[in-house]
Amino acid sequence: MCEVQSVLEKITVNPQGEKVTVLGASKTRTAEEIIAVYRKGVTVMGENRAQEFTAKYDAVHLEGIPYRFIGRLQTNKVKYLIGKVDMIESVDRDDVLLEISKRSVKAGVTTRILLEINGGNEESKGGYALAEIPEAVKYASSLPGVQVCGLMAVLPDTENVAELTEICKSVRKTYDEIKTAYEGAENVCFTTLSMGMSGDYEIAIACGSNEIRLGRILFGERNYV
Ligand SMILES: *Cc1c(COP(=O)(O)O)cnc(C)c1O
Repeated sequence: MCEVQSVLEKITVNPQGEKVTVLGASKTRTAEEIIAVYRKGVTVMGENRAQEFTAKYDAVHLEGIPYRFIGRLQTNKVKYLIGKVDMIESVDRDDVLLEISKRSVKAGVTTRILLEINGGNEESKGGYALAEIPEAVKYASSLPGVQVCGLMAVLPDTENVAELTEICKSVRKTYDEIKTAYEGAENVCFTTLSMGMSGDYEIAIACGSNEIRLGRILFGERNYV
């Protein structure tokens, strides 16, 4: 286990002056490991698979930990999250949005979501293209039972700082434009730009991310993905 507190101490605010939230990416970790990291100051956790979310939910929820979903989501798995999940950060297409809306209305809840951007336009990754985001927000804002809280970006697996910087800056620009355009809207309230992981979070924060998703840095190396 790495020194969680010393990691957290270094992560404070972004250049916009917004507090940076650290989300623990807890895939493959046990509920006990999650609770231990939470008690060291990581205030929110995110899971990648609906089955894992469900298996650990009771223990995590009992501890009072906001538990989110950050992985690829099949429409037929949405029902397992509604009413339990603190936020679904990885909404990557319209049919998932519609399913979240339908299930939320049925359950009488509002589900907080982020729209996911495929930052590098990589075929292997899900997410909207940045240019599709205004339309996606418009569609999401028309759906009952959904509150759009911002954007989540997945970045390409590269060490090219210039490329990452350019992508992160253009994501932040779109985030700001939409935040302004929907000021005062009922179900679009931009507070969260989730961008950056263990390998690239410093660049992401410098470009205006206000939430980073850390796995290995908080929990140690994973045996499998
Ligand atoms: C696993 C994962 C992370 C964290 O990755 P690390 O490299 O371990 O920090 C962040 N976001 C998502 C969507 C993930 O699946």
